[in-house]
Amino acid sequence: MKELGEAILKWGKGLGNDIVKVDMFLNHRIDTGLMFRMGEEIAAHFADERPMTVLTVEASGIALALTAAHALGDLPVVFAKKSGTVVQDDETAQAKVYSFTHKTESTIRVEKRYLPIHSRVLIVDDFLADGQAALGMIEICRQLDCPVCGVAVGIEKGFQPGGRMLREKGIHVLSLAVVEKIENGTIRLRDD
Ligand code: 5GP
Repeated sequence: MKELGEAILKWGKGLGNDIVKVDMFLNHRIDTGLMFRMGEEIAAHFADERPMTVLTVEASGIALALTAAHALGDLPVVFAKKSGTVVQDDETAQAKVYSFTHKTESTIRVEKRYLPIHSRVLIVDDFLADGQAALGMIEICRQLDCPVCGVAVGIEKGFQPGGRMLREKGIHVLSLAVVEKIENGTIRLRDD
C-alpha cells in the first residue's frame, strides 16, 4: 500500500537490525485517516471470503482490526487478552505465544462465547514478525472450530520467517507493506 510505505519511510525508524518503530502513526500516536484506509484495503482483499468476526490480540492490533472490521460491514472485533499464566477455565480458549518484542512467553485467551463455533474469522495484527501471535490466534480458532479466512497485517518484516511459515501452511496472508531490511537505522521496503 503506497501510502503506508511512504509513512514508514517518512516516520519509521529501525532499532538495531530487527525492530521497526512506527509509533508516530501506527501504534502509539495513530494516524486515523491512514488507519481507516488500511482497513479498507484489508476489507477489499478479504470481502469475498465473507469473514464474520475479526480477531486480533491486545493491544496494538486493535486499531487496525477495528478499521478492517468496520470496512467489512461493521463486523465485531474480538481481541485476545494476554495474561502471564494459563488459567484453567472451561469458558475460554487459550494459546501460548512467545513475544518477539518483549522476549517473554504469555498466554492469550478468548472467551468462547465471543467466537461461536463455525464463525469465519479474519485475523488482523499490526505486525507480522516470527508469526507467533498469528499462530496463537489460529490455534484458538482451531480449538473453537472456527475457520480462518486469512491473516492481514499492516507491516510484515520480510527478514523474519513468520510470513513464509504461514503461507507454507496454506494460510492466505495479506501484508500492506513489507520491510525488507534495516540498514544502520534506515528502513528498506520490499518493492511491490
Ligand atoms: P510475531 O508474533 O509475528 O513474532 O510478532 C508480532 C507481534 O509482535 C505483533 O503483535 C507486534 O505487536 C509485535 N512486533 C513484532 N515485531 C515488531 C516490530 O518490529 N515493531 C513493533 N512495533 N512491533 C512488533
